[in-house]
Amino acid sequence: MKPWRSLLCFAAVAAISISTSGQQTAPAHRWAIVLHGGAGVIERASMDPKTEAAYRAGLKEAIEAGSKVLDSNGSALDAIEASIRILEDNPLFNAGRGAVFTANGKNELDAAIMDGATLRAGAVAEVTRTRHPISLARAVMEKSPHVMLVGDGADEFAQSIGLEEVDPRFFFTERRWQSLVKQLKKEGLPIPPRPAGAPPAPAAPIAQIEPPDAHKYGTVGVVALDRFGHIAAGTSTGGTQAKRWGRVGDSPIIGAGTYASNQSCAVSGTGTGEYFIRLTVAREVCNLVQFKGMPLQLAADQVIHKELVALHGDGGVIAITPDGQMAWSFNTPGMFRARIAEGGALQLGVYNDEP
Ligand code: ASP
Repeated sequence: MKPWRSLLCFAAVAAISISTSGQQTAPAHRWAIVLHGGAGVIERASMDPKTEAAYRAGLKEAIEAGSKVLDSNGSALDAIEASIRILEDNPLFNAGRGAVFTANGKNELDAAIMDGATLRAGAVAEVTRTRHPISLARAVMEKSPHVMLVGDGADEFAQSIGLEEVDPRFFFTERRWQSLVKQLKKEGLPIPPRPAGAPPAPAAPIAQIEPPDAHKYGTVGVVALDRFGHIAAGTSTGGTQAKRWGRVGDSPIIGAGTYASNQSCAVSGTGTGEYFIRLTVAREVCNLVQFKGMPLQLAADQVIHKELVALHGDGGVIAITPDGQMAWSFNTPGMFRARIAEGGALQLGVYNDEP
């Protein structure tokens, strides 16, 4: 037998022996991953080419990290966490560092993750001191008996299990701060003091390098299918700019902004969360797949272009099925997005006239 053949035989036996040990089934599926970086009024006319390139590079870096995990037989959950952690650290996106500010001048972060294989889920809201809310959501799922933790308690839990804690000023970005001040002025609302410990205010406002309502998007989400045939979904956000009164959107609400079930599909949403909660958008897409037998793209379009539009809601979703269908659908001028399946080409998009 040629040496490469015996190597293949060995690999096959190794894979089968993992499966017969009951720990893991043999990798039999082609992996796939879809990612979004928020939907909104994202138009060419108001997008600086340099900023657009930076967004595209951010999407690429994040999806490559998730793909790498899947390609080395990692789980959908691991891939999602890897991609979202990168987006949470990228100040361009409204998640982790770069999150929008509340009307009180704070960054309050929400995130959720769901495992389609087991229907286990974890979510956090109003986190202010944990660097990676997506990892905290996952820890809630895997290391606590609960599904959702909020506020100081969620940060305390993160600390108790050794997740990276940061000073809240870590999340501060000048661009988001100025965007908040502008919105509050426009709405005649009081302007909170500049957060303690934030870098000194620049002498002149920073250059406006992006669309006027950039604050309205930037939530991040990832859905993935691993080689074991399991799907999962994750979402992370700073919510909506100038939110008040402890407002929480759809992102951390299981079934609204995030949902996954191997029986149907995995979905992550972005848009005005109130509508996504009222429609339970993520679960609604999966219901159409599971109970009406709709192809994934059709189901996503039905919810986003018909049901959401009927409520005057704006936004979009990304979705994936265990048999490898990938979809995105949005009713806004743009949605930052990327997808790739094993052996296929990377597809990146920003505007609604791109495929
Ligand atoms: N859905 C998020 C929220 O309402 C915001 C967004 O996706 O842009 O909190």
